[in-house]
Amino acid sequence: MKPHLEIFPPEVEPDEDPRVGAIASHVREIVRLLGLDPEKDANLVDTDRRVAKMYLDIFAGLDEGNRPKLTTFPNEERYTAMVMEKEIPFYSMCSHHFIPFYGHGHIAYIPNEKIVGLSKLPRLLEFFARRPQLQERLTEQVASTLEEELKPQGVMVVIEARHLCVEMRGVKKPGAITVTSAIRGIFLEKAVREEFLDLLRRRG
Ligand SMILES: [Zn+2]
Repeated sequence: MKPHLEIFPPEVEPDEDPRVGAIASHVREIVRLLGLDPEKDANLVDTDRRVAKMYLDIFAGLDEGNRPKLTTFPNEERYTAMVMEKEIPFYSMCSHHFIPFYGHGHIAYIPNEKIVGLSKLPRLLEFFARRPQLQERLTEQVASTLEEELKPQGVMVVIEARHLCVEMRGVKKPGAITVTSAIRGIFLEKAVREEFLDLLRRRG
């Protein structure tokens, strides 16, 4: 038994985000409006709180405090070729329907004075993915942040994703992949873009 349950309202544990209880009460109402009764289906008993906690987790990118610090290093080797992280998996939620879209991001930049720790690129993608999102905006936010913080010669971000709001409802095109790209600086030159695509094609 948890003794604190006698002191605190049952839906709020003391170390918990106070929004859990508030969001859960609305989820409970949705469950009720759908004609479901948690008292008659044991699987629904804690669904309100599970959904509330899940939202706060998968939308953690709404909290600026979770923004990854992009540790940079001086480009002492004067490296001026392309740095690419590809096939970075991500999961996000579509702003329009609050159901998932997911896939892979490919992020490349050509440095100037600064280079960034490679692990930071996936973290940056994840930070922006963990909020209600549009694929186009996600792509732009990753590119703009790298442009601002690294001041590189150029940045290119490509995101390939499946949208469950397209597959489960509406036009129902299972497996369709949406591709978006954001291009900055030297990547506007065709030869540089082609090098990016060439590196991307070398899969496996
Ligand atoms: Zn959608």
